[in-house]
Amino acid sequence: MSRSFFRCISGCPGDHALDEIIYKCPKCGDLLEVVHDIDALKTRSAAAWMKLFDDRYLRTTWPYGSGVWGKKEWVQPHIRDENVVSMLEGGTNLLWAERYGRELGLSDLWVKQCGVSHTGSFKDLGMTVLVSTVKQMIADGKPLRAVACASTGDTSAALAAYAAAAGLNAMVILPRGKVSTAQLVQPLANGATVLAVDGDFDACMAIVKRLAEEEGVYLANSMNSLRIEGQKTVSIEMVQQFDWQVPDWVIIPGGNLGNVSALGAGFTMMRELGLIQKLPRICVAQAAAANPLFRAYKSGWEKFQAVVAQPTLASAIQIGNPVSVKKAIRTLQKFEGVVEDATEAELADVAARADRTGLFNCPHTGVALAALEKLVGRGEIKSSDRVVVVSTANGLKFTDFKVRYHEGTLPEVPHPKHANRPVYLANDYLAVRDEVRRRLD
Ligand SMILES: *Cc1c(COP(=O)(O)O)cnc(C)c1O
Ligand SMILES: [Zn+2]
Repeated sequence: MSRSFFRCISGCPGDHALDEIIYKCPKCGDLLEVVHDIDALKTRSAAAWMKLFDDRYLRTTWPYGSGVWGKKEWVQPHIRDENVVSMLEGGTNLLWAERYGRELGLSDLWVKQCGVSHTGSFKDLGMTVLVSTVKQMIADGKPLRAVACASTGDTSAALAAYAAAAGLNAMVILPRGKVSTAQLVQPLANGATVLAVDGDFDACMAIVKRLAEEEGVYLANSMNSLRIEGQKTVSIEMVQQFDWQVPDWVIIPGGNLGNVSALGAGFTMMRELGLIQKLPRICVAQAAAANPLFRAYKSGWEKFQAVVAQPTLASAIQIGNPVSVKKAIRTLQKFEGVVEDATEAELADVAARADRTGLFNCPHTGVALAALEKLVGRGEIKSSDRVVVVSTANGLKFTDFKVRYHEGTLPEVPHPKHANRPVYLANDYLAVRDEVRRRLD
């Protein structure tokens, strides 16, 4: 079995065990990342890895049918199977957006539907790894009393579900009034302690960090790089779904910027182990209301400056001080990356436009699709490029956003371009028939 451990992203010497309670480098305070023993993993050939992953994919042998645990040797080799807390995450649909792509002049456009998942977002991919590791730490005698996170909604839903499945206490700290009803009710239903704080996400993050330091709770935010290890399977899985071909572009919405780092980590590992020979280009899409990465990109990566995030319909990425910004910039530099942003009207209209072709997009996916349309419009994405848009959450979590868009009652989007309103009619055949005829004329 290969060894994996935490190491400082700024290169301080010293390795830390994955079941150590540690989130930051003790020397410089920077983030940690999980490093795998690539030489040990190389003792299996690229072809053999691909065959192993294909043999396990969506099959029933516990826990390898999970999109995450099917890649266990690359993710968390030291977890004993009895400690795996899995709800069959991953294995999500890679959908050919044929009609929408054709409208944009693209023949090879795909949407990776990460929101078609147990709690409705990609956060399940990371949480299965984190909660499994905590379960093993507790089994091995570590004094952990609870798992906790600050959240813009989806992290808390995933943490609450996996903690409930494992029988662990979960504490979630949310910015009051800034998450959707569905996102609020998920941790309530799963029995988590829900602490709704009068403040924004960045304030909740500061509180939970202190709780982790002082109260013996384990921090489940993405500064904890165990989550990144699960989330990185998204790139491995999409390449696997293309029969191990690499797309030309991947577009991903970014807030705290853990997920883009994860995306890059998966591609990097596949290349190191010979499963792929090239890397895709990556685009991070941000809401214009919370776009510190976009600003840094525009300055030629001269300097990164946190911002105070303004309200956005894309509530899960309303983050002004992203914890994983260094990792994200490194990833973008390696993947010939670009950053785009989208206004509220852009993200809502583009989401609705794509919905007209059969999708059902959350606002964050709307941000990514708006970035796609801009890159196509500028000719950076070519008509024959194979493009994957990472859809991060299920649109059904954001019905309020969608209902109000179609009603025309979103203050941010006073003139929705694709609003579709119900027609209210009397119980009268002729009235209904006349309306049908009008529509078909
Ligand atoms: C968490 C989340 C994001 C942002 O991911 P980061 O890792 O914070 O960049 C985007 N979309 C949705 C739906 C999310 O829940
Ligand atoms: Zn360090």
